[in-house]
Amino acid sequence: MTTPLHLLESVFGYSAFRGLQAEIIDHTMAGRDSLLLMPTGGGKSLCYQIPSILRPGVGVVVSPLIALMQDQVSALRQLGVDAAFLNSNLAQGEAQKIEGRLRRGELDLVYIAPERLMQERTLEMLDQCKLSLLAIDEAHCISRWGHDFRPEYLQLDTVRARFPQIPLLACTATADDRTRQEIVQKLGISADGIFAMGFDRPNISYEVAAKENERQQLLSFLQERHAGDAGIVYCLSRKRTEQIATFLTKAGLTALPYHAGLPREVRQKNQERFLREDGLIIVATIAFGMGIDKPDVRFVAHLDLPKSIEAYYQETGRAGRDGLPASAWMVYGLQDVIMLRKLAENSEADEMHRRLENQKLDAMLGYCEVTNCRRQVLLDYFNETLPEPCGNCDTCLKPVATFDATVAAQKALSCVVRTGQRFGAAYIIEVLRGSQNERIVRFGHDQIPTWGVGGEFDAWQWRSILRQMTARGLLTVDPSGYGGLVLTSRARPVLKGQEELHLRQETLTKPASRKKAKKKATVAALTSDESLNTPANQALFESLRDLRRTLAEEQELPPYVIFHDKTLAAMVVHRPVSEDQFLALSGVGAAKLERYGEKFMKLIRQAETGLVSDTSMETDLQE
Ligand code: ADP
Ligand code: ZN
Repeated sequence: MTTPLHLLESVFGYSAFRGLQAEIIDHTMAGRDSLLLMPTGGGKSLCYQIPSILRPGVGVVVSPLIALMQDQVSALRQLGVDAAFLNSNLAQGEAQKIEGRLRRGELDLVYIAPERLMQERTLEMLDQCKLSLLAIDEAHCISRWGHDFRPEYLQLDTVRARFPQIPLLACTATADDRTRQEIVQKLGISADGIFAMGFDRPNISYEVAAKENERQQLLSFLQERHAGDAGIVYCLSRKRTEQIATFLTKAGLTALPYHAGLPREVRQKNQERFLREDGLIIVATIAFGMGIDKPDVRFVAHLDLPKSIEAYYQETGRAGRDGLPASAWMVYGLQDVIMLRKLAENSEADEMHRRLENQKLDAMLGYCEVTNCRRQVLLDYFNETLPEPCGNCDTCLKPVATFDATVAAQKALSCVVRTGQRFGAAYIIEVLRGSQNERIVRFGHDQIPTWGVGGEFDAWQWRSILRQMTARGLLTVDPSGYGGLVLTSRARPVLKGQEELHLRQETLTKPASRKKAKKKATVAALTSDESLNTPANQALFESLRDLRRTLAEEQELPPYVIFHDKTLAAMVVHRPVSEDQFLALSGVGAAKLERYGEKFMKLIRQAETGLVSDTSMETDLQE
């Protein structure tokens, strides 16, 4: 009998299970339900794919995003697995064909969009099929408390009840306690079926900087650290995504906008290009990304603050799914805080929900201003402990100096009170710095005691102080007015001198520039071994990539569905020239060997014979 491990090797080409995969698969094989909490890229799909193949019948996977479905199915077919999808993109004839195959029990896996699954027709058809399991991807969409609630997910519990005999897997990468409870309750999953795998994404480097000139900051980040890389830039509004995409295009980069207001074809085309082309930048609202399965997204940049840490972690989690170094970079300023506070205050939601939104925003702001390791703060939010600072976030790489800002804060708070809690940060700063502009004189604010008491800081520093005070909830924004700063109850102890306030000391200099990113993926970077960085290796790598591109284009597939960069790098390192050697590579199973082995080995053999002259040239040059 085939075992899960045997299947992992022969079909998927991997030699060992990761983390809890083996346990989860055993649990599912035994017919039991589970909730999988794993970070993006953690390897959730294998947990339902392998049991679907091994158990009799077809595995039904509910997935909200059509693009993801198509890619997963293409990838499975490349592995020789009988998989198909049912969604609104299919022509009727095609859908009928797939339904026929389902009835005849020919499929191992079928991916279905939730709204399609909910149709009585579909359910009746499934009644007649033998099912092996039900997997619900992005299961947090079930939760009304979550940040990503989807109405079409609401009735999934009834679907579950209709097929009580088969094991269920609810999968998500983001679930705080409350969301988790809601999923477990709705789907009736027992405590021993909850599998939580570390949320840490050690290959992602986190960085948050104060917003100064966002466009310039973004451009420097892209040019200095991610030239030629694929990535996502998130903005809050549709208009901004288009403006920023235009700006980047003018600067010579390939950037495309994506938001829900674009015509469907444009959206699809831009997403498609992002998946298939190398080094493309998508500038998007949060409408983009759910289920984007591209493994080589090298950065996620935020130009606006997300509404919660869950949203931030999910969005940044789209970077570096292949496990290679990636950046999560964000700039934020006082304006972001003001805008999100207003949104939360004015939201239509009921009182309880609004309070929750505000709490989530508080946590997000707290994260921005932390002075200790960012990863520790993030993981702590998901109830996980990282014992040591990570060494791969901005606060670890460049420890933050703090200063005693108690007196400065008292001056600012007092100035806010004395000007009537009606004015925004810019005005408060002018008063503190002793400006005599027309408005200040007209309001008589050049006569108040706090006028001109803030000369020890320049306007930039004051902005930082006010932003941090707002982020920490000492000040808030008058939701009804024009964004005037208002004191909160938390300000009182500081104002009265009962509590000290320590803030981040920011300097105007840019964060220390790190090693510049290489323009292209290299074998050395992919294997973290500089000694492999030879012209011969790189030349072979490039020709393998070219071959992969040609094969991908022929089949209209994203290149990584053929082989991941990592597998190509392994080809360069191990130079397999026989079937056995090729099969030993990570990411190569029987189907891929048969389909592509010979083509890639041909290039490798050519390189092997050409190697001699290459090496001699190198020596010539060195001497
Ligand atoms: P998730 O669905 O949790 O976001 P995926 O299932 O897409 O993650 O897996 C992420 C990547 O890790 C994929 O490229 C997958 O092929 C790879 N992967 C998963 N399990 C293993 C394993 N046991 N060994 C090697 N690679 C794996
Ligand atoms: Zn850190």
